[in-house]
Amino acid sequence: MTTQVVSKSVKVVNGERTVHGTLEVACFSKEARAKRATKTAGICICIALVCLTIPGAHFILVPLMVLLTPFFVIRTYRITTSIVGASTVCAACGGKLTLLSSKEDYPLYERCLSCQRENRISLAD
Ligand SMILES: [Zn+2]
Repeated sequence: MTTQVVSKSVKVVNGERTVHGTLEVACFSKEARAKRATKTAGICICIALVCLTIPGAHFILVPLMVLLTPFFVIRTYRITTSIVGASTVCAACGGKLTLLSSKEDYPLYERCLSCQRENRISLAD
């Protein structure tokens, strides 16, 4: 298995109120990371090829895409985990909390779409 999805217990804090929930986190193996990086390289090359058809601008856009491709590929390869789902509620209003970020960089700060208050999400002890 190249990508393994694990559940992690988290606590959501808003002021003095705390609730617990779980996050579904995808952990990428080396093969999966290489596959994702290759896909990113393919997308960058496709964008460069599309830029070839733009008269005038292709003198700037194609070299720019060629120079940026290694940056995007390396950045994609370094991503080892990604949040793919969340099962938690807002600590303030109890509404379903939707995570907009996929980067697992604790603590996460997510704004509730119902009450607009910011929740602090960290790994449960
Ligand atoms: Zn809320």
